[in-house]
Amino acid sequence: MRTRFAPSPTGDLHVGGAWTAIASWALARASGGSTVLRVEDIDTPRVVHGASRRIAEDLAWLGLDWDEGPGVGGLHAPYIQSERASLYDAKLTELDAAGLTYPCDCSRAEISRVASAPHAGEEILYPGTCRDAPREREMKRAPAIRLRVPHGSKLAFEDLVRGRIEQHVDERVGDFVLRRGDGVYAYQLVVAVDDSTMRISHVVRADDLLASTPRQLLLMGLLGVPAGEVPGYAHVPMVVAATGDRLAKRVGSTTIRSLRERGLSSEEIIGPLARGLGLVAGDPPSLSAREVALALQPPSTWRQAPWPLPAEWT
Ligand code: GLU
Repeated sequence: MRTRFAPSPTGDLHVGGAWTAIASWALARASGGSTVLRVEDIDTPRVVHGASRRIAEDLAWLGLDWDEGPGVGGLHAPYIQSERASLYDAKLTELDAAGLTYPCDCSRAEISRVASAPHAGEEILYPGTCRDAPREREMKRAPAIRLRVPHGSKLAFEDLVRGRIEQHVDERVGDFVLRRGDGVYAYQLVVAVDDSTMRISHVVRADDLLASTPRQLLLMGLLGVPAGEVPGYAHVPMVVAATGDRLAKRVGSTTIRSLRERGLSSEEIIGPLARGLGLVAGDPPSLSAREVALALQPPSTWRQAPWPLPAEWT
């Protein structure tokens, strides 16, 4: 097993991020596998100076170590997405050469206005406005590049936690963006490229990304990733506030650093997290990361519902 933790350096590590990191790390370590840390900093306006270093410190304090990553190095370096642009360029060129992309100068407002059906969450179905427009035309703005999603793109996979997941990508999201008009690569493309080229065997991440996985699998297929090199997935539930709010979206959400400053040990944080989320059986009061790996339950028995943060942590 080879897993990765892929934080965006937009602030300090919060409890939800720590849980994904622990689950991902323990899954690899339980089988003597390897771990990769990857910094996802392509959304530059959201990047907070110093956050990457602080996240790395918090992970180390929790007892998680990485076989490959920034500062450690490895066969697949660099492990910082902002330093991997030439690879993303090359993959976009491959898709382009295969006739699988087109420029789109729709504005977000236009896109939402003509969307044929609203969908839950943040996704909207792109109605294909620019799909058949001439490539050489006067653009209203610097165009985004979209993937020409093949008709009948039904993607299915067996999630280790959630079981079988299916999505008709063409019907649910349509031709999605690979690179924004301002040149910034889309999350879907860079993650598909990185997870496959870094030879990740299992992606463990929060289930708010469950609906993105079919797009990433589609891209890997179109980029010619052999079936045996496509990762497996384990989508874990969100850690939420007692009110049900998503922690990641709340200013001042509980961070590992704030718990640590209140005097909690890493074992006192990992214990309740690992128990609450079903990584381990029984009721041990505190646990080290290593103890979680030694006692790790199979992902099919991990918790699926959102986990409310213990009241004393808020
Ligand atoms: N960088 C993303 C985040 O921090 C995670 C992406 C992923 O795990 O695929 O939300």
